[in-house]
Amino acid sequence: MLVRGAGMLIRGGRVIDAGGDRQADVRLGDDGRIAEVGADLVPHEAEVVHDAAGKLVVPGGVDAHTHMQLPVGAVRVSDDFASGTRAAAVGGTTTIIDYVNVTRGQGPMAAVAQWRALAEPAAVDWGLHLTFTETVPESVVAAGVEAGITSFKLYLAYPDRLQVDDGTIVRLMRFARRQGALVTLHCENGGAIEELRRQALAEGRTSIIEHARTRPAILEGEATARAAVLAELTGAAIYIVHVSSANSLAAVRAARQRGVDIQAETCPQYLYLGTGKLEGPDAPDFVCTPPLRDPWHAEELWEGLARGSVQTVATDHCPFWRADRRAGVSARPGGARDFTEVPGGLPGVETRMALVWAGVNAGRIAASDWVRLCCEAPARTFGLWPAKGSLAQGSDADVVVWDPERRQSLAAAELDMVVDHSPYEWFISRGWPELVLSRGRVVARDGRFSGVPGWGRYVARAPRAY
Ligand code: MN
Repeated sequence: MLVRGAGMLIRGGRVIDAGGDRQADVRLGDDGRIAEVGADLVPHEAEVVHDAAGKLVVPGGVDAHTHMQLPVGAVRVSDDFASGTRAAAVGGTTTIIDYVNVTRGQGPMAAVAQWRALAEPAAVDWGLHLTFTETVPESVVAAGVEAGITSFKLYLAYPDRLQVDDGTIVRLMRFARRQGALVTLHCENGGAIEELRRQALAEGRTSIIEHARTRPAILEGEATARAAVLAELTGAAIYIVHVSSANSLAAVRAARQRGVDIQAETCPQYLYLGTGKLEGPDAPDFVCTPPLRDPWHAEELWEGLARGSVQTVATDHCPFWRADRRAGVSARPGGARDFTEVPGGLPGVETRMALVWAGVNAGRIAASDWVRLCCEAPARTFGLWPAKGSLAQGSDADVVVWDPERRQSLAAAELDMVVDHSPYEWFISRGWPELVLSRGRVVARDGRFSGVPGWGRYVARAPRAY
């Protein structure tokens, strides 16, 4: 069955993409692609016309870091691909790239096949990254690239189940360079953190704030610097996921000055939320890794976004029910015994575009930065450009008509993500999508989902040129 978009002319909006920031009309063809962008386009007969006067017209958002449906110990992420992509659409994101985690001893391509089956009900387009938790042969990297998976993740933390040693990192970087892939890295010094956690528990320091105290920013900075050195050694391109601290950002900047091909991603939680959230009865609802930092780190990150030293904002979308956070990953009778048992991760796929847009309202970044950070850079970095993240003729008609005056509460009850809390309960966004299209099909209108499960397609990503 071939489902086609109907074709549409979006008139009179402020169009922002890599082609500039200008008043223009955008024509979406009935093939699901951008047909034409220009001034004063004349409607075709029977063409649907959407008046975008006073609105912004931007490429659909690309969220390069999500975890739908992921099992973590005895609990599971509360959004599946159907609900998570529905929420993404409502918030203006039309492509996600989800992480397939290959557990030790599991076959990587079997894990990919399992994840592709889980993602079938997605309402918007989706790609996959592959996470290795042990060394793999080059043929696995080649098979991934062949299947359109052109980024591979390694953890420098969580020694019990995810962390790899430096030799494994060097090996994967060499393979990635030869196969045209990007290595993404979770940068925290897992061994040192493990010791700090043991020490905290031995001293009876079990409360949630210890999650932050045992994962200090200097250990994120150290791991980022080490990853950068290994990239320098191997010539591989790397991407640091969820940079949360000035320490890590400084390591990224220093490496780039040496000529290392390194990019940084941050997430809205590190721009808006601080360590103070980790005290009080709601503290379990704010556990994520890296942990929330002292607020001055957020200032550095905003500065990095404005100056281009942080290239991408993704979400690390990884929601859990409040009850599951309190039950803990071991589902122990009586609940989580201490901070080490709380599943870490926050909801975010629906609120990213709005939270970064709030930086435009606040004068921290320009509207064109918002588009670059949320749409264009992730598409370019992960081999989706120019099909995604662009409004050029021939690009996929993934389009957001953004109403800069529309008010939207970011409280859980007002959102579509399947989870019973929001890290931004108090936040009223000024700015929200009026219309969201995925390959020419309207998937959200006036803040309500209007797509269908299964509309989303797998997007094979292009390898990078070294
Ligand atoms: Mn993650």
